[in-house]
Amino acid sequence: MFEVSRSHVSEPHIIISTNYCSVFLDGVTINSKIISSNSPISHYMEEGDVMKSTKRNANVCSNCKWPKINGLVNVPYKLTEDFSSDEKQQIQNSMSSFHLNTCVRFVPQSTQSSWVNIVKNSGCWSWIGRTGGRQDLSLGSGCVTHGIIQHELIHALGFWHEQSRTDRDLYVRIHLENVLDGYQRNFDLHETNNLNVPYDYSSIMHYGSLDFSRNNRFTITPIQTSATIGQRVQMTENDILKINKLYDCDSYLHKDGEWDNKLGEPFTTKCPRGQAISHITR
Ligand SMILES: [Zn+2]
Repeated sequence: MFEVSRSHVSEPHIIISTNYCSVFLDGVTINSKIISSNSPISHYMEEGDVMKSTKRNANVCSNCKWPKINGLVNVPYKLTEDFSSDEKQQIQNSMSSFHLNTCVRFVPQSTQSSWVNIVKNSGCWSWIGRTGGRQDLSLGSGCVTHGIIQHELIHALGFWHEQSRTDRDLYVRIHLENVLDGYQRNFDLHETNNLNVPYDYSSIMHYGSLDFSRNNRFTITPIQTSATIGQRVQMTENDILKINKLYDCDSYLHKDGEWDNKLGEPFTTKCPRGQAISHITR
């Protein structure tokens, strides 16, 4: 075995940054950011940033998966011209993090009849899974960050928030008495398929402790007191594992079912639990 300096591992146009596995130094809770961005339109939303659908299936996405073509999940997308070139680059960089770690491929929409239309609307929000036809995903003001882009794209792939899992009461306590009036339903459970992946406090899909608080007191607290929730820096190994399991990305899974980074074999490695994959810079 030998050590390889990751800063020198490169592929054409891709540089893997040095903070390959990183703890969450940034205490910003993404959901708070999403919620504040969404406040004028939140009555159209479920859970703060999920567009309400009358036809969604409660099961995590039994019929709203994106199609697989030659082993790769194709998610066509369009970026509107409202984004600056820097913002477009950021969105594409965030998409690349899925390309490196999952069999999901965001591809420019051409003739496909279903696609994600990424707009600069009011707030950050998405539909859950493929709805059919054009489906908007908004990255409004304050939403074009790596973590928020990943968060909304994971919704579009078919996932609800982590704390809406059916087993969440084993892991978190909900304090409805501190929740803003009218927003209590954002803490409902959803019938989810957890894909045999452990509950993940660090998930990029988890609410933060103060989300939807009416009095600056906690609305959700981890039962495991050392855990922190609400990070919006980047997706975790379990976020990635769930995507790979939902979409049967077999070649991105270990034989024993554990996830391993796919950052240019043979330089694969695995981040310790609770740490996130590196961000990827071009
Ligand atoms: Zn969300």
